[in-house]
Formats: sequence, C-alpha cells, structure tokens
Amino acid sequence: RPRLFSGMQPTQDSLHIGNYLGALVNWVSMQEEFEAIYSVVDLHSLTVDVDPGVLRTRTRATAAQYIAAGVDPAKSAIFVQSHVAEHAELTWVLSCITGFGEAGRMTQFKDKSSKRGSEGTNVGLFTYPILMAADILLYDAARVPVGEDQRQHLELSRNLAQRFNGRYGETFVVPEPHILQATAKIQDLQEPTAKMSKTSPAGSIDLLADPKQTAKRIRSAVTDLEREIRYDEAEKPGISNLLSIYSALDGRTIAQLETDYEGKGYGDLKKDLAEVVVGVLGPIRERAMQLLDDPAELDRILADGAERVRPIASATLARVYDRVGLLAPS
Ligand code: ATP
Ligand code: MG
Repeated sequence: RPRLFSGMQPTQDSLHIGNYLGALVNWVSMQEEFEAIYSVVDLHSLTVDVDPGVLRTRTRATAAQYIAAGVDPAKSAIFVQSHVAEHAELTWVLSCITGFGEAGRMTQFKDKSSKRGSEGTNVGLFTYPILMAADILLYDAARVPVGEDQRQHLELSRNLAQRFNGRYGETFVVPEPHILQATAKIQDLQEPTAKMSKTSPAGSIDLLADPKQTAKRIRSAVTDLEREIRYDEAEKPGISNLLSIYSALDGRTIAQLETDYEGKGYGDLKKDLAEVVVGVLGPIRERAMQLLDDPAELDRILADGAERVRPIASATLARVYDRVGLLAPS
C-alpha cells in the first residue's frame, strides 16, 4: 500500500471544523487505501510561546480528537512528532539545501510574522516549512492530505525532494498534496475573508466546544446586509462559508441548499446549520472526552505509533546521511 503522512499542531485544546473538514475527514477515508501515518506535530507548535504544561495537555487532546473523528489506531500509526528524533535531524540536512530567499517566499511566514512583529517572530517560524518537509520525506509519503493553506509548503517539500534526488541520487519519494476543493478553505466566522485558524479562536467552530457555544458562534457569524441565501464568495463570503460547511456535513449540494432556503432568512439558515453541526460534532466530542479520561491508554497508543514509524524514519535518515557523505559511526 502506498504511504501517506499528515499532521496537526497542538496549538489549541480543540481542533476546529476547518481542520476537521479540510483534513481529518480525508484522513479517515484514506486510511483504508493507504498505509497512513498521522502525527501530532508538537515541535511545530513550539514556534508559538506556550506554557509547557498546556502543551502536554494539548498534545494528548489533539491525538484524542484524531481517534474520536475516526482515525483507527489499529489501521493507522498515530504518534507524537518529538518521539521520533529523526524529524529534527533531517530538518538540518534539508535546511542546508533550502535557499534563504526560497524560504522567505512562504506566504504563511509572511502573514504570521507580520501579525507578530519582528520581536515576536522566531527563527523556528521561518524554518517551519523545512521541518514539515522532513516530516513527509522521512516516510516516503506519496500523498499528504491537507487544507489549501498548506499547498505552498507542500510545493517546497516537493522541490526539496527533487533537488536532493538530483544532487545525490534517488532518495526521496516526491509527495503529492491531496486537497479536497470544496472544504479546503473553511473561513473564520467573525472574519470570513480569512481562514479559520487555531491562532484566532474567536471565529472558529471547535470540536470540543459545548453545543450551546457552537450554536452561539454560528448565530453571531458575520454575514452581509442582503437577505438572499446565495453562494458568492466575493460578495457574500460569510454566507458562502456557512453554505460550504452545511453542504459538507449534510450531503446536500450548495445549489440544493440555495433552492431549499429560497425565501428564508439568515436566521433560519444559522439555526438549522447549528443543529447539523452539533449533530456531527457531538459524538466526536463525547468520544474525545472519554479518551481523555484515560491518558495512560492514549499514551500507550502514541507509544505504539512511534514504535511503528521509528524504523522507517531511521532507515531514511541513515540513507540521507550516507548520500551526503557524513561518515558513519563504526
Ligand atoms: P494554527 O493557527 O496553529 O496554524 P491551524 O488551524 O492552521 O492552526 P494546523 O495545525 O496548522 O491548524 O493545520 C492542520 C491541518 O488543518 C492542515 O492540514 C491544514 O491545512 C488544515 N486546515 C487548517 N485550517 C484550515 C481551514 N480553515 N480550512 C481547511 N483546512 C484547514
Ligand atoms: Mg496552520
């Protein structure tokens, strides 16, 4: 079976519905066809200033949400990135074949660093996409299911794989992104021209939120001054986003929803959507809570995942070290 890799950062207690629809849903369906490897990428989240205790809690919570959403630890390896040292080690080698200008062109770095200012921007945020390339290339992953915001980072991973192969001989599999257009970019409810994000949690629908909070978030979603329920990303980004979420969860096409809501108001749409969202997320939340009640069992799953992937990672790193001419220890 071809291999697949993906990961999420433990940067909040809860994942949001963008993470779920943009990536996690694909993770679940793809684990049947692929040898799937899913990581909680805790090293990536060190680019954000976080309390150590909170980071540990969030790392377990993120893993619990993978499983609660349907990732099956019997089929897929679920592990914590920092448990496999090769991620950090391969990053160094890949850093040395990445152009400074090439890394500087990453739009996520530009966005995040301009929000944080130069004092708040660390070098880790800059080299983040190289660590991500290492995550993927270590496992010879053919496919990487992610949201649209990761397309450019994936392109960098591909370029680095090709460059390394060109310079040192065939070493890495060149990974393909797997991005589902309809749900690849769920927008923020408060700022519907920006993507929903764990870094601005006020406008997100969270997997672990209680149903009342979810309904309230949806009710207060920013829309527009018209009354018509119609998909139009440019003129009506808020309504279009609600329709995308609705369609993804409920199975009706956007065109069908437009017809069904003809003559109805935004309030009706929001009320119904809240019900649909709570219907899907409710069971995920409950299952995640159960899993979090037994941290020892979660840790066992994560240890097992790391054990399964470690031999793959160490074989790749040994191959890389050899190719670039690092003297093997005797
Ligand atoms: P952060 O703000 O900490 O970067 P994030 O919400 O961007 O958080 P990540 O952990 O960086 O979450 O990304 C996890 C996965 O979710 C990636 O595959 C990413 O492409 C996807 N994703 C993130 N936000 C969205 C979104 N709004 N719509 C669709 N997919 C998304
Ligand atoms: Mg992100």
